[in-house]
Amino acid sequence: MVGLFGDYSRLFRLFHVINIVGARVVSISTFASVIRKFVWGDNPENEVNSKKRKKTDSFDEKESMFVAETDSLLDLFPEIRKEGSEVFNSFHNFSVSCGNPMATILVTKQESCRMCKKPLLLDPNTHVVVIYDEQRGTYLGSRVTKNCNSCKVHEQYGYWTCKGKRHFEIDCLENDFLLSSEDTALGMSLIRQCANLLIVGAVPFSTYSKSYNRRFGYHGNVNEAGSSFANEKLWLKRKRR
Ligand SMILES: [Zn+2]
Repeated sequence: MVGLFGDYSRLFRLFHVINIVGARVVSISTFASVIRKFVWGDNPENEVNSKKRKKTDSFDEKESMFVAETDSLLDLFPEIRKEGSEVFNSFHNFSVSCGNPMATILVTKQESCRMCKKPLLLDPNTHVVVIYDEQRGTYLGSRVTKNCNSCKVHEQYGYWTCKGKRHFEIDCLENDFLLSSEDTALGMSLIRQCANLLIVGAVPFSTYSKSYNRRFGYHGNVNEAGSSFANEKLWLKRKRR
């Protein structure tokens, strides 16, 4: 019988589920059956029928095997147990240390020039962007420009420029981020939350920003404990600009 280890697509589905629910949940009997069937790509109706047939919540053979294989997998690769936020911070700090922040990369989906329809060229020079995010706080990412050198069209994430004039894409507010300047991006969820609180008159912007800084442990002085910036030199350099 082919189990988890013999099927990469099952392994990937299990990784996705662990990423959503956490590694500990897989061995809880109430959830293991549903997770196994999702990982195997089974029909959810079978799950409902098997629940009706089952009189106890004990594991059947397939589930026991699945839980045992998952335990072995987690023992072999303890990295899988890491929370999503831990992996994000680790990758963010690593990319910043490499001098190429890439925890979030802001690049347009546009593939061809709006004028001449020829393929756009990716600018190899990326630009560091400070990102303000409702869930993750402030961190560093990069933005990438795509160009049509014939038409002088420069495509950014959410907008494009032509002859020095900026044009916002009609659906730019549907994106996850808004490039508010060349080196700053705001998470749309943060903007919506802030706008909502301002409109109902709950807090002035200064109070909201203080609350944001307090929540993520930013104290104004990046040398104080609590700053999430792995590369303070980079941050200080940017602050002086
Ligand atoms: Zn063009």
